[in-house]
Amino acid sequence: MLQREMPPADAKGGWLLRMSDNGVASDAGNMLIRCERWPERALPLGYWLGEPVAVVVEAGRDDWPAFRDWLAQVPAAQSELLATALQVTRWERDHRFCGRCGHATRRLVHEFAMQCDNCGLRGYPRISPCIITLVTHGKDMLLARSPRFPPQRYSTLAGFIEPGEAVEAAVRREVMEEVGVDVGRVSFFKSQSWPFPHSLMMGFFAEAASRRIRIDGEEIVDAAWFRPQKLPQLPPVYSISRQLIDTHCESVAVR
Ligand SMILES: [Zn+2]
Repeated sequence: MLQREMPPADAKGGWLLRMSDNGVASDAGNMLIRCERWPERALPLGYWLGEPVAVVVEAGRDDWPAFRDWLAQVPAAQSELLATALQVTRWERDHRFCGRCGHATRRLVHEFAMQCDNCGLRGYPRISPCIITLVTHGKDMLLARSPRFPPQRYSTLAGFIEPGEAVEAAVRREVMEEVGVDVGRVSFFKSQSWPFPHSLMMGFFAEAASRRIRIDGEEIVDAAWFRPQKLPQLPPVYSISRQLIDTHCESVAVR
């Protein structure tokens, strides 16, 4: 598990995670290596197995496997490290200048922060909270298809939380906008980091107050009620969407 405490400024080696702009080193053996002296441009992330860990982005590694594929395969502790490395390196790459005055920024060593020495503005990695919700009616589940999905795939509903909006309100609004269903009780399930590019998925169960579906036709191209015994093709097992569906199926099977 990644220990979220920054190594001291003079830490120069330990573990090194090797990434490219789009992927990770090609097998678990050389993805995360021991390294006495990190490269100059390595970014410390915290501690891994009791030792400092840093990430380095290597150029010209376009053949390395994509992050999404890796996240599906590695254990949860490693996927947290990968997700952190991916978000922090992209944030640093994209925030080299101050958004307020345009001056060059510098990375602070004791936390994930970019400092502007000209105007004092400090920027932190962007995390975008999203709701993801399984709408239920008794045993039935409301699943929907986005136009971006592989053929036959159905999933739960999801959307970004807007500025100033409470999380529960975002659940009700997204469900109403996407499928036109009023929601009663909403209960939190769990959350999952989704670093494409910087989402934090917050999972909820939502009890439908009515069954009539009215899709928006843009974000959602089809939606329907499904029984646990007769499900369409679902998202992969590591996704929070699938965990919501599986958890509901287990809970209604024992009733
Ligand atoms: Zn500035």
